[in-house]
Amino acid sequence: MTLRCLIAGLLCLALGAQDRPLIIKASRMLDVRTGKVEAPAQLWVKDGRIQPGPAPADAEVLDLGNRTLLPGLIDCHTHLLIPSGLGELGYLKRSQGALLLDGVVNARRVLEAGFTTVRDVGASASFGDVALRDAIARGDIPGPRLLVAGPALSITGGHGDLNGFPPHLHGADEHIVDSPDQARRVVREWHKYGVDVIKIHATGGVLSNHDDPGAPSFSPPEFKAIVDEARRRGMDVCAHAHGDAGILEATLAGVRSIEHGSLLSPATAREMKARGTFLVPTLYALESILLPGNPYKVPEGSLAKARALLPLRRAGFKAALDAGIPIAYGTDIGVFDHAQVAADFRYLVSYGMTPLQAIQSATLVAADLLRMGRDIGTLEPGHCADLIAVDGDPLKDVRTFERVPFVMKEGKVIRRAP
Ligand SMILES: [Zn+2]
Repeated sequence: MTLRCLIAGLLCLALGAQDRPLIIKASRMLDVRTGKVEAPAQLWVKDGRIQPGPAPADAEVLDLGNRTLLPGLIDCHTHLLIPSGLGELGYLKRSQGALLLDGVVNARRVLEAGFTTVRDVGASASFGDVALRDAIARGDIPGPRLLVAGPALSITGGHGDLNGFPPHLHGADEHIVDSPDQARRVVREWHKYGVDVIKIHATGGVLSNHDDPGAPSFSPPEFKAIVDEARRRGMDVCAHAHGDAGILEATLAGVRSIEHGSLLSPATAREMKARGTFLVPTLYALESILLPGNPYKVPEGSLAKARALLPLRRAGFKAALDAGIPIAYGTDIGVFDHAQVAADFRYLVSYGMTPLQAIQSATLVAADLLRMGRDIGTLEPGHCADLIAVDGDPLKDVRTFERVPFVMKEGKVIRRAP
């Protein structure tokens, strides 16, 4: 566990302080570890944590009625400071201040949708994501508990470069690294500015010009230098990767998670399994790029890449499932509208997960990926009082997560629909 994760955990004690103990009742509660449903369900909360043993006699009671209690949800791949639908040129018109305000609005929407912890993996150059994380942690503005990455590291001409634009439009390009020494310097710099995790582009991408999603980016010594330097600073590395060669090279270098993983082969999946590497699949993002009418104004070159990748994705996801890789929930919101943060549940199930596996990906497994399993991801005593209640049976219909009527974070009610 990094120091920052520890601080995030401790904050749930400091900020969730309640005057009186609170008993929460509902018709059912899902144990995400075992898949068993407890009915009726009751737990009690004080000082932002779920408490052991019987509740004191003077506790207040909050009865949520005919609903199912679950742990607060976790999204391991967001872009809160990137508004969807700007298209290629619209993004260049957005100032750093405007992007940060977008992040404030999106953080609240994501929390109200039931996501109480989020790993934000790639914001713009001014480390607004760090400021957003800290403002939420102080309790100044509402939002999920955040882990942030700052700008993703990329090679010249890679997914994070402004390919196709003339040199005078290139501004702060510090995140572009082309040698092991440069990589180490940037990782140290990002650590200085307060990020929790390092994000890299291990292959080309879809929403970028000219680069190839199938081709690896960094050289093996560059991958190694990034992971080694991040570890020395107590940070994990997550790697955007579509093509199998880049997934394998990033895995061999020791990244904590592969993001997207579209063209994952069975052999590379077995390597990930052997090394304990997580997959964060972000299934709906690619689908959303190809929605009829192109609502997100995606340029033609990116549409063509998405059309080529989409039919191959199911095989990659199946390879991950067959190998038994830990799969953590992640959406890539920012590519599509942040309010649809729960859209991936139905894709995870349609691509082959059981509803329980999909729920575990957004709770237990995600908490494990973030090394926060002692604080979040289950409703066990001692954990942060981050919880949601949903209508219907989530083990039968995961679309119930698309309209979460009750959200609590650190013992405070965030949303309670009638
Ligand atoms: Zn992303």
